[in-house]
Formats: sequence, structure tokens, C-alpha cells
Amino acid sequence: MCIFCKIVNGEIPNNTVHESEHFLAFHDLHPKAPIHILIIPKQHVDCFQDVTAETMGAITEFTQEVATKVGIDKTGYRLITNNGSDGGQEVNHLHFHLLGGAKLVWDHTHEDAHRSL
Ligand code: 5GP
Ligand code: ZN
Repeated sequence: MCIFCKIVNGEIPNNTVHESEHFLAFHDLHPKAPIHILIIPKQHVDCFQDVTAETMGAITEFTQEVATKVGIDKTGYRLITNNGSDGGQEVNHLHFHLLGGAKLVWDHTHEDAHRSL
């Protein structure tokens, strides 16, 4: 069983922000912004490439609720999913990083991002 499935079933403790029947939002263990929340489907899906449009519709509403709940719906935020090895995905259970609480930097210059486009 993957680490996020263990969080869902309570084997690994987490700092829950918001929960519904199908989704869970909890604080990232190593925050990269003042607010750094992970949003996951409770049912295991490996990555974004495997998720259905139906789940994405529902997780969109859930994510908007989380942003409102933590008070960054008006100030703004960044929503990221790392997909697969080139995307830098380390935990193979679909998750979205919700980052906010400060003006976030955006690196427009990284050479790899422009390679082979
Ligand atoms: P990825 O690199 O796969 O997109 O992101 C995985 C994220 O999960 C990382 O930001 C990492 O800090 C977080 N993480 C890994 N293990 C745990 C854990 O046991 N609990 C929590 N709350 N976050 C975790
Ligand atoms: Zn899982």
C-alpha cells in the first residue's frame, strides 16, 4: 500500500485541512510556501495521466473549497501536479500541491523548461 493510501486509512498520521467522502486535503510535511497543502483522491490513482475527467471535476470543487477554507481564494495560489519521473513525482498516488500565503516566485529562465519544445 502506498504512503498516501496509509494516510487515508489512518496508518500514518496527517494534519487534515479538509475532507469529503472522496477527497482529503492535508498539510505537506516539508512545506515549500507558507501554505502548502496536498489534495488527493481517497481512492488510489497513480498519477494525473490516469485520472478520469469525472474525478477531476469533483476534485476541482473540493480544491476551491480548500482554498476558501484557508483564506487564499482571493489572494491567489498555485496548483501543481507532478506527473511521472520527468515531472518529478515522488509519491505515486495522484496529488495536487496547493501553494499560497505569499507572492510565489516563478522561474521563467530555466533552460530545461524550453528544451525541445
Ligand atoms: P511529489 O514530489 O510526489 O510531487 O510530492 C510529494 C510530496 O509529499 C512532497 O512535497 C513531500 O514533502 C510530501 N510528503 C511525503 N511524505 C509525506 C508524509 O508522510 N506526510 C505528508 N504530510 N507529506 C508527505
Ligand atoms: Zn495510494
